[in-house]
Formats: sequence, C-alpha cells, structure tokens
Amino acid sequence: MDLAQRVQSLTPSSTLAITAKAKALKAEGHDVIALGAGEPDFNTPEHIIEAAKRSMDEGLTKYTPSGGIPDLKNAIINKMKKDQNLNYTQEQVIVTIGAKHALFTLFQVLLNKGEEVIVPAPYWVSYPEQVKLAEGRPVVVQTKEEQQFKLTPELLEQSITDKTKAVIINSPSNPTGMMYSKEELEAIGEVCLKHDILIVSDEIYEKLIYTDEEHVSIAQLSPELYEQTIIINGVSKSHSMTGWRIGYALGNKDIIKAMTSMASHSTSNPTSLAQYGALAAYTGSNEDVEKMRVAFKERLAKLHSWLIEIPGVHCEKPKGAFYLFPNVKEAASICGFDGVDDWVKALLDEEKVALVPGSGFGSPDNVRLSYATSLEQLEEAAKRIKRFIEKRQ
Ligand code: PLP
Repeated sequence: MDLAQRVQSLTPSSTLAITAKAKALKAEGHDVIALGAGEPDFNTPEHIIEAAKRSMDEGLTKYTPSGGIPDLKNAIINKMKKDQNLNYTQEQVIVTIGAKHALFTLFQVLLNKGEEVIVPAPYWVSYPEQVKLAEGRPVVVQTKEEQQFKLTPELLEQSITDKTKAVIINSPSNPTGMMYSKEELEAIGEVCLKHDILIVSDEIYEKLIYTDEEHVSIAQLSPELYEQTIIINGVSKSHSMTGWRIGYALGNKDIIKAMTSMASHSTSNPTSLAQYGALAAYTGSNEDVEKMRVAFKERLAKLHSWLIEIPGVHCEKPKGAFYLFPNVKEAASICGFDGVDDWVKALLDEEKVALVPGSGFGSPDNVRLSYATSLEQLEEAAKRIKRFIEKRQ
C-alpha cells in the first residue's frame, strides 16, 4: 500500500543509523566505543525513582488532565520564577511526552501548509522533519563556524519572507554545545519583534553549562519577548530521565490551549507515574543534577584536550550540553577520503569508534561526539581516532 506523502519525505535519523550499526558490531563481539548517544549515562536520581514508585502504590495510575497534573505544572511555574524570574500561569503550561512531543505538537498547531520556520544549521535532527510533518517548510540557515555556529541578526533578517512564522533557538545547542549571550539574544529578539515572528526557544540543555555564564532565556529579556516566545524544556537531560518522556512548553495561552486540545486527541496525557517522577525532580534536591554537571565538565575538558592534539581535527571548546562538534574535513582528507561521511564509516569499521557525521545536522565537515560515557572510554576513543589518522599520514 502507498504510504502518505508526509512520511515519504522524512529523512531517516543519522544518529539512529550509526547507533544501529555500532550495536550490530557489538553484537558480533567487537569492542565498540559508541559516542553517538544523545542521553546522559547516569542513573535517574534515587528520590525521583522512589516518588514514581510511591505514586504507583498510592494508585495514581489513571488518566491525568491532558496538559499535565496541576502539581507538576506548579512545580514548573515555580522553577521558572526561581531560575529566570519569569511568571507563568497554569494556562500557559503544557506537560508533554518529552520535549520532542512539545515541539511536534507546537508545529502542528502553528503551521499552515507552506508556512516557514527558520532552522539555524547545524540543528537538532528532528526540527526540520517535525516542521515538514506539519506541512510547513523548514528554512535551513547555514551559520558560520567562525561565529561558533550561531545565528546572527543579519542571517536571520535575510532569511525572513512573508511566509515566516517562527525561528528556532537552541541554547546550549545540540550538536555544537555553543551558547548565545544575552546581547546576541537581544539582537535576534529585535528582528523577531520587528517581523512578528514567534521564537521557539529550546532550552533542554540549560542545566548543563560548564563556564561561569548563566543560562539566559530570550523570554527574560523584555515583556515583548516574553509574549513572543514559547519555551521548550524537559527533564530528560537535566535529570537523566530520557526514558521517562516528560517535557513541557510554556508561553502564550492560546497556543498552549490549542496544544492541549491536540494532545487530548492524540496522547491523552503523559504517563501518570512519569509525571510524579518529574514532580520530585523539580521539588527535590538538586545535588545529583550538579554532580552530573561536574562529571560532564571534567570529561569535556579532557576530551577536548585530547582531540585538539589529533592531526586535522579542529575544535572550539563548547560551553554546554554534552557534545563536541569538531571540524574533521582536514582529517578526512589526510586519510584520503572525499568526505566526512566516508571517514566516519571507515573509522567505525576499522577502529570501532562510532561518531555521528555532521551531515545529519546540516554541517557536513563536522562530526558529533557525545561525552555521555566514562572517561576511560573517551580516552580510548581519542587514542583510536588518533591512530586511525596517523597511520594514513
Ligand atoms: N531538543 C534537543 C535540542 C534535543 O537534543 C533533544 C533530545 O535529544 C530534545 C529536544 C528532546 O528531548 P526529550 O524529548 O527527550 O525531552
């Protein structure tokens, strides 16, 4: 049977493809180091697990309101007040099945056929696909490595048409780990206000920052930008809760109402137990979150220092998230490959190190390495990559 056109035009996830190949090699008994993962390698903190168990024992296993339980919405509202001094009401919050589904639902309620969303590249793989699934048009804007892969007001202005509905800002970024400063966000915000463009601010990595800089949400910068922004966040990365699937969106109450209505006919509600777990995450101690951040910080420092020693690998030190995004064009050329995709395949075949080619993120000269794995594994991976290149020099 013919499938709908909307799925025929989907691009398969490059992250999943390389992960599948790495898994297959592992199953054959090879010693594979997989640096493709987009999830923390720590266990979910114990008090969160306990809270979810307790909710089951107490019989809190039934449907919940589509937009999430009021207590969790309140905990999110309190967090926003405490962290960003932003005020939201219950009607401005929807709890979703991960941040991914918050974004998916947002594009569904926002876009008419052919309306455009500006997606700065390199981008998280799902943004363009989700826009396409909503019959919108992703307008990919290539940012410059010299500008730390950040969208500038000039680039944004040039990409706006009469069909532009929204722009996505992801800070700290997957895959680059770069962060926007307050001033940079202000300049972008000005352009968005001038053209009345909605800002989709994906802040899922806000708790994973390794410099003295604080996370700034564009919604904090003025009352007008607060009105113009939908914040997307969740507990997957901050609390190592990827499998629990709890995310949320905050902003304009009409948009949130439409998203809630859409959820009521598609998902009904996020899993009740997971919501009680997320409630504990936001009301309990932050000690574990901080421990994970400190461990990631150490790994970043070490892995970065090892990578920049490797011939043909160029890498600015990221400030957040848990990825490095080096430019390896020269390394691929030293090794005699035409492009980075082939280099990545050969590295996996020969040295059993799995990286994600940057082509999947719209940046074909780079690769993404996740440091959500032990320091020993990271050191061994760096050694193997070095050996792979030096052998061919
Ligand atoms: N946004 C970005 C930038 C991400 O990297 C991810 C996960 O990889 C998500 C959103 C989705 O997170 P989740 O659906 O697990 O909350």
